[in-house]
Amino acid sequence: MAEKKQNPEYEAPAIDWESRAYWEGAGRGELVLQRCRDCGVVQHRPRGLCASCLSDDIEHFVSSGRGEVYTFSVVRQNQMPAFAKAVPYVISYVQLEEGPQLLTNIVDCDPDSVSIGMAVKVDFVPTPATNGDALGVPRFVPA
Ligand SMILES: [Zn+2]
Repeated sequence: MAEKKQNPEYEAPAIDWESRAYWEGAGRGELVLQRCRDCGVVQHRPRGLCASCLSDDIEHFVSSGRGEVYTFSVVRQNQMPAFAKAVPYVISYVQLEEGPQLLTNIVDCDPDSVSIGMAVKVDFVPTPATNGDALGVPRFVPA
């Protein structure tokens, strides 16, 4: 009998000073993005500078967590232990309402039901750091 299909598993993220707010936000169940106070651009991945105007006047804010599938692929083979029980699974770029795209998984649905433009919302997997910091990994589910 086949084992029950699982969602992909995640290890605790490797964080640094640029990404700490993002991963800690995910640990609280918040999708944290950055906005430039000089030019207003919203960016992801987290950086120490605005990728548009190079200002270092960056603020963090909690996004709506809503978006749509920009593009996706269904992974049907992956021998890495954390993913082998999850195939087939969906890897996707999600277009967030605030502008940036996020590389992520779409879970809790039939992979064949995913389509470009599909509305999705964020969900989080707690992934504590080895030092006990409450971190998380965002992924998306049908909205
Ligand atoms: Zn800027």
